[in-house]
Amino acid sequence: LPQRLQGSAPSVWNEYIALAMEYKPLNLGQGFPDDAAPEYVTKALAEIANDENPLLQQYTRGFGHMRLVQAIGKLYSKLLQREINPLNEVLVTSGAYEALYSAIMGHVDVGDEVIIIEPFFDCYHPMVKMAGGVSRFIPLKPTKTEGTISSADWVLDEQELKNMFNSKTKMIILNTPHNPIGKVFKQKELELIAELCKKWNVLCLSDEVYEWMVFDGNKHIRICTLPDMWERTITIGSAGKTFSVTGWKTGWAYGPANLIRNLQMVHQNSVYTCATPLQEAVARGFELEMTRLDSPECFFNSLPRELQVKRDFMAKFLQDAGMKPTIPEGGYFMLADWTNLEKKININSEPDKYRDYKFTKWMTKNMGLQGIPPSAFYSDEHKHLGEDFVRYCFIKKQANLEKASELLEKLK
Ligand code: PMP
Ligand code: GLN
Repeated sequence: LPQRLQGSAPSVWNEYIALAMEYKPLNLGQGFPDDAAPEYVTKALAEIANDENPLLQQYTRGFGHMRLVQAIGKLYSKLLQREINPLNEVLVTSGAYEALYSAIMGHVDVGDEVIIIEPFFDCYHPMVKMAGGVSRFIPLKPTKTEGTISSADWVLDEQELKNMFNSKTKMIILNTPHNPIGKVFKQKELELIAELCKKWNVLCLSDEVYEWMVFDGNKHIRICTLPDMWERTITIGSAGKTFSVTGWKTGWAYGPANLIRNLQMVHQNSVYTCATPLQEAVARGFELEMTRLDSPECFFNSLPRELQVKRDFMAKFLQDAGMKPTIPEGGYFMLADWTNLEKKININSEPDKYRDYKFTKWMTKNMGLQGIPPSAFYSDEHKHLGEDFVRYCFIKKQANLEKASELLEKLK
């Protein structure tokens, strides 16, 4: 076994998808919409499959299909108020997942330290390890445990964050809106991270796949727009999240040409080029949305509006069931403290080490409702911080959210 794979194990996704296939629960685990994708997006793909231009079924440019990199360049030039060169400042990848991988493999060297904010999207740490880097973890902690808890109540300790940076630090990975908490980082919080990145000459890898899913008038701020941060930030997005087509596995990274070049090299030496029809369809989706960015009909505006209703519905039924949800400001997941239910159920029939794994497996098998155990999103030394929680996904049909609510009623 090569050194870089030592200690690797199948991820929570591989384990919980197998569990869902076996027990067929109502699945609020892995994050994906269970309703039809927007029709204009799927129609575009069908049209492309039948297009008279035969080249749409063949290989396209390795660093990104021209029409797509142009659309991405145009959109973010507008959002960032800075001209982005689609040829060398954008890379199209096989999902945001590959963009993360290319960014980490393309910049982290053996022995480099990478600061990871906990809980974290679970692949960050194994990817750092693959590159030979060393992850340094800092947890977001809830400042409130009673009353209405918002994702804004989960914060980093300023001094602790300052202490993470040193001369070996290569990169910090930021995720806003955050999976699984739903936190949308505020200007002040981003300013502190930016200041430390500049002080210690550190790169910021900003995972912004939920950039359009922000609620209650909160604002998604792109850290690359803060003063002197463009030069040191790689920002990642996902068509799967942006257009509700997670199976399309199409993502991107943008940033300054000298940083993106390293990602292009990793991409070239692993994936090389992504599926042409999917890129063409995503490009057409962006082109349409760019004509109506300020309109309520724009999918980037209608989706969060509809999601917010689902969020509120879920928060209520989790509360009614005796759980304590953290109300997310963004994204499509909700963390809930489930420990009030512990006296009503016996989760010890499950042999797992961590209580959130016991709880989610017991719920899948006995109540027919699946969630994700958040300790999967913590380092070994901090897994206990996730054990009282479960993560549920709320980008689901109303009928399924109602079904989840009914299943939980039985525990009252
Ligand atoms: N980052 C975060 C925070 C995510 O939740 C996801 C969801 N899979 C990804 C990256 C990967 O996105 P994609 O499906 O486009 O690879
Ligand atoms: N981002 C999704 C989630 O967090 C999907 C994760 C995955 O399949 N790797 O649930």
